[in-house]
Amino acid sequence: MVTAQPDTPRVLVIEDEEALRFTLAHSLKKEGYQVLAASRGDDGLKLAREARPDLILLDLMLPGLDGIQICRLLRRDSTVPIIMLTALGGEGDRVAGLDTGADDYLAKPFGMRELLARVRALLRRSASGSQPPVVKDGALVSGDLALDRERREATRAGKPLRMKPKEFELLLFFAQHPGRVFTREQILDEVWGLDFYGGPRTVDVHVRWLRQKIEADPANPDRIKTVRGSGYLFEG
Ligand code: CA
Repeated sequence: MVTAQPDTPRVLVIEDEEALRFTLAHSLKKEGYQVLAASRGDDGLKLAREARPDLILLDLMLPGLDGIQICRLLRRDSTVPIIMLTALGGEGDRVAGLDTGADDYLAKPFGMRELLARVRALLRRSASGSQPPVVKDGALVSGDLALDRERREATRAGKPLRMKPKEFELLLFFAQHPGRVFTREQILDEVWGLDFYGGPRTVDVHVRWLRQKIEADPANPDRIKTVRGSGYLFEG
């Protein structure tokens, strides 16, 4: 049995490559984390639900259930931070373009220092008290907004909002990361993906449209805030 401090963060590693699973577990333990591990996707999902870890490192290609399926199943009722581990060769880009619900992506092979930095950052973020998004009946709920990720539908105070697919994705991205400042370039990368050739103005235009739909007073927004010289921040 692991005897660790009760407030030691617990990290679940779901990875079928034995050598990598071992290295990850070893490095995380050395950093003081409690580590749980699974080599199959279905076992990993079960462990995630039973043990309620503070963070999950999730391989993409797994026997049983793959990383994307696990992410989607977990996101129905959990906001646990998830870092997806993807293979090299554009797979990371492809995964980032899907709405898997992962918080971060790391392409293999990655350095352990880089991985640990991302783990620390995500754990800090989830502990920082910026209102975490709540998941209810499969929808992400933030204030008077509810976003159904499977149906790609949004409601405000129970009333359906009509929006373009990219508006929905942008709002979902904001709602998944409340209290964080993103530059227009980051938002373009995250929401539009790397195959998009438009400019940062695209983000401004979509933010304007969203504000018309979700703000009580679009001229004085209190959900999607402009951070001068930086970008945008969503208030959870
Ligand atoms: Ca694998």
